[in-house]
Parts: sequence; C-alpha cells; structure tokens
Amino acid sequence: MPLCIYLNGRYFSTREEAQVTVFDHGLLYGDGVFEGIRAYHGRIFRCDDHLDRLYRSARGIDLQMPMERDELRQIVLETVRRTKLQEVYIRLVVSRGAGDLGIDPRKCAKPNLFIIADKIAVYPAEKYERGLRIITASTRRNRPDSLNSQIKSLNYLNNILGLQEAIRQGADEALMLNDSGYITEATADNVFVVRGEALLTSPAYLGLLEGITRGVVMDLGRRLGMKVEERPLVLQDAYGADEVFLTGTGAELVPVIDVDGRRIADGTPGPWYKRLLAEFRERTKWDGVPVQPEGEATASPRRPAPGPAAGIVS
Ligand code: PMP
Repeated sequence: MPLCIYLNGRYFSTREEAQVTVFDHGLLYGDGVFEGIRAYHGRIFRCDDHLDRLYRSARGIDLQMPMERDELRQIVLETVRRTKLQEVYIRLVVSRGAGDLGIDPRKCAKPNLFIIADKIAVYPAEKYERGLRIITASTRRNRPDSLNSQIKSLNYLNNILGLQEAIRQGADEALMLNDSGYITEATADNVFVVRGEALLTSPAYLGLLEGITRGVVMDLGRRLGMKVEERPLVLQDAYGADEVFLTGTGAELVPVIDVDGRRIADGTPGPWYKRLLAEFRERTKWDGVPVQPEGEATASPRRPAPGPAAGIVS
C-alpha cells in the first residue's frame, strides 16, 4: 500500500476513495495553493522551507489555512509514514473549498486540504543520462505584478501553455521568458547556466518561483567553489553556456543539452552538473525531517561540518 492520501482529517489508501466536490473552487477557478515535497531515505527534504512557502502562498491569496503549521507538519509526517516508503513525493494542496458557481471566495465556507504521498518519476532515467532538448516558448511568463510568481497557486495555465508548445515541437521542456525577454524559468523548474566556474540563474524579481531546489543548488555550488550569481539571463546566455540544467523538487537536477536546436557545448551533461547532482544526492541523506522519530529506523548519517558558504538552514 504505497499510496496514502490525507483529506480533511481522514486517511485513504486508494485514489477512488479520496474525493472532493465538483464545486470546489480549486477545480472551478484554480483558487488554491500547493506544494510539492520529497522525502529521501525516510527524511522529508527541506520540509520546513516547503511549509513556510505554503503558508506564504496562502497569505498571498488571502486564504485562511485550516490549521496551524505544526499540526500540518505532523499530518505530513503521518501521511508519509503510512506509505512505508523511504522515497516519496508529497503533494500538499489547499483549495478555497466548496462554493457556488461565482468566483466570490467568500462563498467558500472552508478550505479543502489534502496530501497525496506517492512515488513519482518526472522524466525517464534516460533523460538524466542524456539530457533534455528544450525550446523557448512564445507564451510569456505571467507578470509578477499581476500574479506573483512566488505564489505557488493551483493556476498553472501559463506554464501548461508553455509546455504544450514544447510538446508540439517534439521537445522535452520549454524556457519561459518574461515580457522583457529575460529567461525566468522552465515550465515547472528553475534554470541554471554554467559559464566557466560561474553558476548563474535569473533573479526572482524577473517573475520566477524562487525554488527550494534552486536555493540548495546555489548553496552546493558555493561549497564547491563556484561563483554563484543571480543575474538576469537572456537566451544568448543559454546558447553560449558551458552547461545548462534545470532544478525542481519533482525533476531534481536534470541536464539540458539542446536549446532551440542549438547544442549546448559538446551536447552531453557537463561536469559541474554531475558534481552538483552527486552533492545533492549526498545532502538528501541527512538534510531532512525524519519520518520515524530519530533513533529508530533513521539513525542520522553524518552531517558534514558547515562549509564556507552561508548554508540554508532547513
Ligand atoms: N518554477 C516553477 C514554476 C515550479 O512550479 C517549480 C516547482 N516544481 C519550480 C520552479 C522549482 O521549485 P522547487 O525547487 O521549490 O520545487
């Protein structure tokens, strides 16, 4: 029984049992927020960062969370525990709840909260070995002053339109530009460019989600001695890069070997990507909240001494 679903106070083990009404405004209007989290080796990676972001997203759309953060944290742990899996993807969703057929959120008496804990594979293993081919979408990323990209909302149409362009062109993913033509992110992942020893990614104010994996990778890059910089990236930066890769909770770190039909360097995943991925894998061994109480199934592996960089506290 690997799948476990929590829904408004109850736990389910099949997809069919866990149901919400068709009047839910998350479904009718995309009115709600979510998080995607992963557990590795029985530890929820960056659990508190994700919970913080969820509560910030909820505040961003003026959605009253149905419970305090600590209670939700316990429920997330319990949901994962019930899967009995060590490697789990956790989808946490809070929707505005059931209302009427108008958009008015005041008609929704209480939010629906559900958590799906299950296995996930965003890309086949071969893509991590060989790399992705991506294109630039003509659909521009939402302007952050109309829909703040820091709000992880249930409304992903902007990104879906971008991904559909990639699919139509036979590509794996799409880069999304903002309305000034700067690279923001891919359709559900952040974008990194490597140039020499520099690790570059666009700053959040351009209208991208400040990914939690992005933050971890920037920290790892500094520890490896890279010069990490947030800089507004344009397409030429990607075309001329030594390496390009994407990061996200679901996709993890995935290399890109082709952008708009232009081969990146020699067309194979680069050495920095490989080193960062190896460091990332190491980090997932200790950086997380144990699903079982400490000292039982998950004796803490060695946590390395703090490096020179200001590490992100989980
Ligand atoms: N950008 C977008 C639009 C996303 O949906 C995500 C999450 N999949 C990311 C970036 C990466 O964020 P994180 O590393 O926190 O998962």
